[in-house]
Amino acid sequence: LVEARQVIKRYGNVEVLRGVDFTVQQGEVACLIGPSGSGKSTFLRCINHLEKIDGGTLTVGGDFIGYRQQGNKLHELRENEIAAKREKIGMVFQRFNLFAHKTALENVIEAPIVVKGEKRQEAMEHARSLLARVGLSHRVDAYPAELSGGQQQRVAIARALAMRPELMLFDEPTSALDPELVGEVLDVMRDLARDGMTMIVVTHEMGFAREVGKTIAFMDEGVVVEHGTPERLFTAPRHPRTRAFLSKVL
Ligand code: ATP
Ligand code: MG
Repeated sequence: LVEARQVIKRYGNVEVLRGVDFTVQQGEVACLIGPSGSGKSTFLRCINHLEKIDGGTLTVGGDFIGYRQQGNKLHELRENEIAAKREKIGMVFQRFNLFAHKTALENVIEAPIVVKGEKRQEAMEHARSLLARVGLSHRVDAYPAELSGGQQQRVAIARALAMRPELMLFDEPTSALDPELVGEVLDVMRDLARDGMTMIVVTHEMGFAREVGKTIAFMDEGVVVEHGTPERLFTAPRHPRTRAFLSKVL
């Protein structure tokens, strides 16, 4: 579903992504691990059209990110075309970024109504079922400030799912949470994975990566240094940089 070949991204003259190769098949979970500053967030932002790439190719469901192919020429997409593509991709960040003055339910129905033009009644029904799915049926009318960090993050996941995405991106979704709240968010993600959602998860939770990841990619200094099944990568890392990283985090 996602295919990156030699993706390059620069900020000014600093090359942050230096030729990233990466693929995720439909229905699979790929975990992305690596040290701080290695380019994990930047790569997710590229997939979600939040950044323009400076080289290589990046496709989601066969569609080029940021470009439209005509014959053998690529044309830059207009802002409204990019927005339409971004709708198919859900993203969950470390910080939940919920609307503080809206309830959980209102947070979840916002984008389907405003962006997709869904009918309010329909959006509400869908939102209620999504909030039930993340274990928050009893908190639909709560405001973010009345919810724990784990509950807020689960609302954020429901909000992303409300757009019926074909791909979900998670950028360290549990790293801002108190340790006792991490499990409930990982449980929701595990359920999603089991239901066949295609997911790319940047995480420091090696237990989760090992259990849920179909593949793990280790990123360092703007490239995917190596990737493989969790079993192979965690027990027999091939690259010295992977070994050095794993020896610190496992
Ligand atoms: P972390 O684990 O700390 O979240 P990361 O792997 O997600 O790290 P990125 O946030 O992708 O790393 O950053 C990669 C590099 O790009 C870093 O050196 C960072 O300073 C730089 N960078 C990121 N965003 C920008 C920006 N908007 N302008 C300039 N440099 C940036
Ligand atoms: Mg990051």
